[in-house]
Amino acid sequence: MPQTQTTTPSAQALPKLPRMARAPKPKTNDCACGCGEKTARRFAPGHDSKLHGRVLRIAAGMDLSGILSPGELEAAIKAATHGPNREEPATEPRKTKKRAPARQADASGAAA
Ligand SMILES: [Zn+2]
Repeated sequence: MPQTQTTTPSAQALPKLPRMARAPKPKTNDCACGCGEKTARRFAPGHDSKLHGRVLRIAAGMDLSGILSPGELEAAIKAATHGPNREEPATEPRKTKKRAPARQADASGAAA
């Protein structure tokens, strides 16, 4: 049995849509892995995985002090110590926006 064509002829006849050219985002942030590279996002490409691997190695008890640069080691230790078992810092809880109490408005309207 011969292979059938998956695209329809009408779809092939449609013209391409124009694309707006975008300027790349400026690389203004320091990479969070501590390498010192500038990036437009939080990590340079692939560096989040590098940091993850370092955190796993530190958690397994490896000493990376002679392998990594001081910035990379500091970022890895910081990331490793900010897991779910960390000690909570003694600071006040973050203030959040509170919603307007809708039930109180109903109660005051019923009372009046
Ligand atoms: Zn990096």
